[in-house]
Parts: sequence; structure tokens; C-alpha cells
Amino acid sequence: MPEAHDLGAPARAAAGSGATKVALDVRVQAAALAAELRRHTRGEVLFDAASRGRYSTDASIYQIEPVGVLVPQTEDDVAAALAIAARHEVPVLARGGGTSQCGQTVGAALVIDTTKHLRQVTALDLDRGEVEVQPGIALDALNAQLGRHGLWHPVDVSTSAQATLGGMAGNNSCGSRSIAYGNMVHNVAGIDAWLADGTQANFGPFAEATGRARELGEAVRALALRHAADIDAMWPKVMRRVGGYNLDVFRPQSPRPYTDDGRVNLAHLLVGSEGTLACFRRLRVALAPLPAHRVLGVVNFPTFYRAMDSAQHIVTLGPTAVELVDRTMIDLARANPAFRSVIESALIGEPEAILLVEFAGSERRPLLAQLARLEALIGDLGLPDAVVPLADDPAQKALWEVRKAGLNIMMSLRGDGKPVSFIEDCAVPLEHLAEYTARLTEVFARHGTRGTWYAHASVGTLHVRPILDMRVDGATLMREIAEEASALVREFKGAYSGEHGDGLSRSEWVRWQFGPRLTEAFEQIKDLFDPKGLFNPGKIVRPPPMDDRRLFRYRPGYAIAPLEPVLDWSAWDVHNDPATELLTEPGTGGDPARGFGKAVEMCNNNGHCRKFDAGTMCPSFRVTRDEAHGTRGRANTLRLALSGQLGTEGLASEPVREALELCVSCKGCRRECPTGIDMAKMKVEFLHHYKQRRGYTLRDRLVGHLPRYAAWAARLPWLANLRNRSPLLARLGERLTGLAAQRALPGFRRDRFTSTVPVTRAGGVVQAGARRVVLFADTFDNSFEPENLAAARRVLQAGGYTVTVLVGDDGRPLCCGRTYLSAGMVEHARDEAQRTLDALLPHVRAGAAVVGLEPSCLLGLRDEFLVLDLGEGAKELAPASFLFEEFIAREANAGRFTLDFKPLPRTALLHGHCHQKAFGVMSDVHAALARVPGLKVQAIESSCCGMAGSFGYEAAHQDVSMAMAEVSLLPAVRKAPADALVVADGTSCRQQIQHGAQRAALHVARVLEMAL
Ligand SMILES: Cc1cc2nc3c(=O)[nH]c(=O)nc-3n(C[C@H](O)[C@H](O)[C@H](O)COP(=O)(O)OP(=O)(O)OC[C@H]3O[C@@H](n4cnc5c(N)ncnc54)[C@H](O)[C@@H]3O)c2cc1C
Ligand code: SF4
Ligand code: SF4
Repeated sequence: MPEAHDLGAPARAAAGSGATKVALDVRVQAAALAAELRRHTRGEVLFDAASRGRYSTDASIYQIEPVGVLVPQTEDDVAAALAIAARHEVPVLARGGGTSQCGQTVGAALVIDTTKHLRQVTALDLDRGEVEVQPGIALDALNAQLGRHGLWHPVDVSTSAQATLGGMAGNNSCGSRSIAYGNMVHNVAGIDAWLADGTQANFGPFAEATGRARELGEAVRALALRHAADIDAMWPKVMRRVGGYNLDVFRPQSPRPYTDDGRVNLAHLLVGSEGTLACFRRLRVALAPLPAHRVLGVVNFPTFYRAMDSAQHIVTLGPTAVELVDRTMIDLARANPAFRSVIESALIGEPEAILLVEFAGSERRPLLAQLARLEALIGDLGLPDAVVPLADDPAQKALWEVRKAGLNIMMSLRGDGKPVSFIEDCAVPLEHLAEYTARLTEVFARHGTRGTWYAHASVGTLHVRPILDMRVDGATLMREIAEEASALVREFKGAYSGEHGDGLSRSEWVRWQFGPRLTEAFEQIKDLFDPKGLFNPGKIVRPPPMDDRRLFRYRPGYAIAPLEPVLDWSAWDVHNDPATELLTEPGTGGDPARGFGKAVEMCNNNGHCRKFDAGTMCPSFRVTRDEAHGTRGRANTLRLALSGQLGTEGLASEPVREALELCVSCKGCRRECPTGIDMAKMKVEFLHHYKQRRGYTLRDRLVGHLPRYAAWAARLPWLANLRNRSPLLARLGERLTGLAAQRALPGFRRDRFTSTVPVTRAGGVVQAGARRVVLFADTFDNSFEPENLAAARRVLQAGGYTVTVLVGDDGRPLCCGRTYLSAGMVEHARDEAQRTLDALLPHVRAGAAVVGLEPSCLLGLRDEFLVLDLGEGAKELAPASFLFEEFIAREANAGRFTLDFKPLPRTALLHGHCHQKAFGVMSDVHAALARVPGLKVQAIESSCCGMAGSFGYEAAHQDVSMAMAEVSLLPAVRKAPADALVVADGTSCRQQIQHGAQRAALHVARVLEMAL
């Protein structure tokens, strides 16, 4: 029998100070290290303050500045870097997507980021059902390749778009379907790794191991034998346990064995080791057939307790997932128009919680039988008619999306209190789940906060994050809540660390969980593998206390410097109530940057902006794969600059300019970032401050003032367009303005729309009456493609609308100020916006709708106008402003637009403008085009076209601009049949398509006009 341990001792006393020491006392010849890395590797060596700052955080509350960063090009680079670091005795931290929640991916070390280049599938063995990959490949990228073979890697973490296989193995990650497929450790067959001294070793089945792997395996086996009694006594006997090292590979304790045949696999020692034992070079991971069929039963519960109590019975039916959505999440989904109908279709009455119970398999009929068994079981549990069966794929997918979105909305809470992850994945045996959750809810209430519960009821791992303010009393509350939660975990014989790893927030709890002797055994494992303690020190063994505030992102002394923003950010400048989540009034949050600081701090580093799905975010990351050129890198750079961590120049500094340089202001992040980071707006704020300090360039003036000189250029178009006809002038122009000589600039036209149709001057008598539209003649369509506006006018008139084309009281066309915003000339933009608002408002008040064609201009009336300090009128204009296609779809829905179009038997290849996607308008584009009989619309799954206003015209951005277009847009256009219509509503998009694929693209209005 093991000796009794003092398990009640405060965890703080047990914690070492390793990482603190490393973080605060590291003595490194960084310059010498960087120089050697540059000499001996082909990778990017990033030792500047901004790069180190960007790699100093993960999705946890911690921040530790690394010594430097290497982005290796090849595996040889990693080997060389490890040898160099070992010589300098510099710690090393391997990094994937950096999405860890516990701080395991931050440290005072040389960070090696494998995601840019080391992301290949190196072998596919269909016979063995295994695939070999490099560590930097993201799960979605791998599964996209496997899907072609009807296979997938089934550890389906929610961060699948950005989590890498290296990081998943590092953390022993688990997916929603772990009850069916196990954790990462059950799905890793072998790891080829470098040890701390640079030697390479192959970790696989113990029986076949040789060399260093064998030696290490033997030594760990001896430890396991020596500590057998402790392992039996102390090890949590639950399916989900990821804390400590997997010493029990030699003495399995989990209800789910490590291997099917009971053979020991040494790779399993490395899984969950959080980069502390070895650096992975290649991983061999398991494949599973993609289930041909899935069915979902949504069980509605009158109380949360009953939902939790039922999980233990439901799992006996053999589901692939049992996922919880609680009342708060149901309400969040109901409050969102996009999700209301989906969630309501899954509800019966007003449930306090629902469980999503999924069955999957190769045949449909047995799954339907399982669904029937679920209904019977729930009936037996006293809840007849409580299951909503969803047997169709689209309905199931829609509901899973709601579950994900609910979490995102929860994470977007404004104010300094945030849902903090530190006890988010304690795992308890299912029979105790109901009592555990009830009592932990009481713990939260006692501490003046609350948590929303969600996720993996199937394996007793429910996620919950109490709302804490880490700048004020968060550390104290975190400790108190953690200690009470841990007491519950002990009472119910659970695992404190059940999914997200140990990192900085839970490593000190390893001793609490496993006792001093096993903790010492873990330290011995660490020393066997890494005698000098160079691999990710301070994680799992010899950790710092979790509440050492010096290691926090918001550490003592952290403060945003005072700043007078040019845009209105007051909506972010609020406090929240941790118990009710109610917000104080805008502008009351005490942000010295009047809300801009808090808006920037919304980024919690979850890394979703590293995705490569069908969405938009983030085009510059998609082509560069640089941390600096993604939304997260930008938000972090801004936060560091605003809080004085990048020097005294703050927001107007060069590192900020560099990070924002390739942001194309597509607004993809505004919609797709879970916390709603709106980098396009942040870039406007930055440009204003930067240009105020450094002055405007000739190009800024040329771009910004376009709406002012466009009328003059239209009078002398041959002169204005001369540059396009003369290569010499184009080259000279490039030298003077930076606008690329090889790009033809849009050609000015004498026949501007506003000079060829009757116009109404602002300030005159306003006609009232139904079916009135003010057609907003934006600068781009008006000056370069007036036929688009003419087409829109014809279609609207044919539909029975009275169309007014409004110009300013001086006769100058109206303008949204977009060009000024993109040049950082915010005061000019405000003047233009005010002039436009003043002109439009009387018409809006008389009942007219404002309809525009150019997405970036018209949508500005709904977006930027609200933060330009234009007064209350901006709030009236916003809901009355529509894109042409939105207006058609809305009017048609209301039965007011009934125009019959002629058949147009053509294929239309549709590219959406980023702002259309950001504002959810694409469905209206489809609806408008669907009114044309015979027209077959095919959407191009594209991100940004890469032109993005003047961005693509700039010589410095040529390569990136074209690379963005080549990701999917241009190849799709080139493949389109010659008689297909190419449809794109953005002026820039049409230009890019013309330049890159030599195809003329049309605005939707032109397509509808063709069918009149
Ligand atoms: C919103 C959100 C949802 C999440 N959902 C889940 C979930 O459903 N399930 C789950 O399990 N986790 C989840 N996580 C946690 C996290 O996303 C996963 O653990 C993920 O697998 C980490 O992958 P990564 O590439 O970001 O790893 P990183 O954070 O970069 O690294 C993780 C660890 O692995 C180590 N590592 C990375 N590469 C190597 C290498 N080459 N050699 C050795 N060690 C290496 C690192 O040093 C680090 O210790 C979630 C996180 C967030 C923010
Ligand atoms: S910018 Fe948004 S998506 Fe990217 S890491 Fe930050 S919060 Fe996540
Ligand atoms: S606006 Fe677009 S390019 Fe800029 S950070 Fe957001 S998604 Fe990336």
C-alpha cells in the first residue's frame, strides 16, 4: 500500500518556481543565438520585440516573452536549431497553432513555429490505417486530404481549423466524439522525435524499440514498476485524464486501454507531454472511415440536473457524441436571427438544457433503430416525447453550428471580466456529473460569478468558465474557485485535468492529483528525457504557481496608455457584471483609450483566424502564413503597442505599421472572429494616428481625394487616362506614387452616370410616397462603370419604383468617404459622410430607401457612419440603406417586387465581395439572381480577391495581391466556360478578375438588366 499523503495541503505550497525563474531570470546571448540560427538554418529568425510579443501568448491568461522565434523551412533547420539552442543552453518551445488554453505554449524559450512549412503528409498507409505527418499540419487540412479516400483522423477538436497534429499530440487533445474514438493518445501509433541533445529517436511499440527509445522506455518501465502501488491508488480511473505524464502506459488505469491489443507503445509517453520531453519530427496517427450516416436525437430536459443525471444512461446506447447545450446557450441562439429557427426546431417547450446525442455508422437503418431506443430510454426515465429526432444531414449540421456559435457569443462578452479557462475540463465519473455540476454552480455563485456549461457530457467533461477580471481580483478568485472545484473532483474521484492539458494553470495541480511520489517519478521522467531541462520548462513538472501574476497577460502594471481615438469605440468601453453579464453604459468602462484599448483586448488568441475554410478571414494570413499577418498577430501587436510594450511610439509605431500593412480591410474578421475583432476599423484608427505623426504621401492624397477630382478627370478623361497608355508615364508614376506600373488604373469616363441622368440636388423639396428609392451613385461606379448604375436604375424603375439620383447641394455627387478612410484621412471622410448623411436623411425620413451598388461604399453607411461621430441621424440612415440585391430580395419577400424577368439560360459564376460576406448579404445576391429563370448560379468559394481598393494597385503589394487572387478566385474564373457570366459586385473584384484572368465581370444589376 502506498503511504498516506497530505493531499489537503494547499497546492500553492507544492508548486515550484521553475517557469517563473526561467521567465524572469533567463540570461541569454540572444544576439549570438540569432546570428547562429541565421547562419545555420534557412528559416526565418525573428528576434525583434514585436515578433517576440506576438509569440508571447496562447489562448490562456498568460504572457511570457520568448527569447526569439524560428520559423523553420525544413526539418534540418529544426535539428540545427535544437543543437544550437542546446549549446547555448537556451530552452526550446515547439509550437503549433498556439491555441492552448493553459499556457503550455508560452515560455522564455526559443519558439519553433512549425505551421508555416512543416505541414506535409509524408506517407499514407491505407493497409495499416495510418498516416504520417509533419507536426505543423492543421487537422482540417489533414482531413481535407483524407476525405478523398473516405477517411479522417477522428480526434475532432473544436479548433480543428487551426490546431496542428503536433499540438494535438502535445496536449493529448480530445474531440466531441472521444467516446467513440478516444483521445489523441489512442490515435497515435508512432512519433519520430528529436531529444534535447539533438539526437533523433523513434517512439513506437515498446517490443520493437531500439537505441535511445528503448533505453528511455526501459527506464520509465522501471519507474512504473517501482511506483505500481501509487499508480493503482492515485491514478484517476476516468476516460478523460490528460494531467501528468502517461506513466501508466506500463500499468493502464483508464477504462479505455491505450492500445487494443494491450501492447505498450512508447509514443504514448510523449503524447500529452506538452513539448517537455521531445520535439516531434513526424507523427504516425490513426485513420478511421468517415461514417456514411449520422443521426441526431435532441433530448429536451426540464432541469439541468436531469440532463446531467441522464448522461450515464444515454452512453449505454453507444452514441458517438453526447453534447450539452445549456439554457444560456439556448437563449443566446434564440436571440440571434440567424440561429433562431434552427434552435427552435430542436426544442420542445422551454427546456433548461438539451443533450445532442449522435449515432453514426455505415448503414442508416440501425442508426434509426438506435434513435428509437434513445426515445424509449428517455421515456423510461420519465420524459416521454422529449426527443426531437434529426435524421437529415443539413438539419444536424445546422444544429452543430448553433452549438459552436453559442460558445463564440459567450466569448465575445465585452468588458474586463472574461470567461476564464482554468477548471474548464475537470472530468468526473458520469454517475456524479449531476451533483458535481450543481455544486460547482453553487461555488461560482458564492464567489459572485457564474458559468455557462457546455460540451462533452458523454465522458463527464463539461466545459465551464467563470467570469473573472484578471486585472483586479481574478487571480484570488481563480485560486479560491480552483481549490473548491478540486475538492469536488477529489470527492467524486475525477481528473482535474481532463482535456486541455496542464500548462501553467494546472501543472501545480499535478502533485495534488498524483501525490508527491508520482510527482517525483514524473520529474525523473523529465530528467531522463531532458537532463538539462531545456524543453518547455515549468510545464507538468517543477511549475510556478498558477496565480503568479507576473506571468499574466494583464500583469501588475499593465495599462493601456491614454489615447484620443478618432473613431467612436465607446461601445467597448464598458464593465460587465460577472453574475448577470449585464453591461454598463457605453463609455463608462474607464479605458484610457476610450474603448479602443478594450476593443483590441477582445482577442483571446483562440487562433480561429488561422483557418483556411470557405470563409474570408484572413486573406493575408492565407497567403503568408505569418503570425504577424493574421488577425491575431495584428490584434496582439496593437495591444502590445497600446500598452507600451513595443516602445514609446505606441500606436503610431513601425511595428504596428508592418503588422497592418497587408491587412486588406476585408472585414472578414468582423464577422468570422469569435470575439468580433474588426481589424478594418482598427486599421483606420491606426492610419489616422500614424499619418498624423508622419504625414500623408502623394499616393494617400491621390487615393483619398478621388471623389473630389473625379469630376475634373471626367471632363478630360484622355488626359487623366494618359498614364495607362504610356509605359513611361506608368513607370514614372510608380516611382512617384508607388502605384504599380504594370497595373492599368481604372479608366475615367466622360459619360458619368450623374451627368447623363436627371439628378436631384440635396436641400430641395423632398417628395414623400411609397416605392421611392434614392440610388446612391458611388464614386467608383459613377466614374468608371456608369452602366452599372444605369442598369440598377432601369431594373428598379421596371419594378415600379421611383428612383431619385441625389447629388450634393453644390452639384457634386455624394460620397461615403471610403477612399479617405483607406488613406487615413478620417477628418475628410467625416466631412464627406456628414454631407451625404445630411443629403439623404430628409429622403429617408420621407420613407425612401437608399440603394447602392458598391458593397464597400453602401455598407459604410451602415457601419463606419455609426462611429464617425455624425450624430443620431446616422442611426436612422443605417437601417434604411441597402445593397441593390438586398433591396430586391427584401422587396420580393414582401411581395412588392414582382417583376418577371426573361429567361437567361446561362451559367453565372458568382464571386462575393468580402464586405457582402461580412454583412451576410450573399444569400440576397443568390435570391436576386434566382429571379432570373434559367440562370444557373455557381458560387466561387473564394476569400478576398486581393485588390481591396487601392491595395492591389500598390507596387509593394503586387505579389501578395495576386497570390490572394490565385488561391481560388482566378483559377475558378479561368476554368469557367467562355459563355458563362462572371458576376462580382465589387469594383476592385472586377478589376482583379480583368487583370488576372482577362475576363469581364458584371455587377448583379447588369445581369438583371440583361433579363428585362
Ligand atoms: C476555443 C477553443 C476550443 C478548444 N477546443 C478543444 C477541444 O475541443 N478539444 C481539445 O482537446 N482541446 C481544445 N482546445 C485546446 C487546443 O485548441 C488544443 O489542445 C489543440 O490541439 C492545440 O493545438 P495547437 O496546434 O494550437 O497546439 P499548441 O498550442 O501550439 O501546442 C500545444 C502543446 O504541444 C506542444 N507541441 C506543439 N508542437 C510540438 C512538436 N512539434 N513537438 C513537441 N511538442 C509540440 C507545445 O509545446 C504545447 O505544449 C480548445 C482551445 C480553444 C481556444
Ligand atoms: S483575432 Fe479573433 S479569431 Fe483571431 S485569435 Fe483573436 S479572437 Fe481569435
Ligand atoms: S480585415 Fe481582413 S485582412 Fe484585415 S485582419 Fe481582418 S480578415 Fe485579415
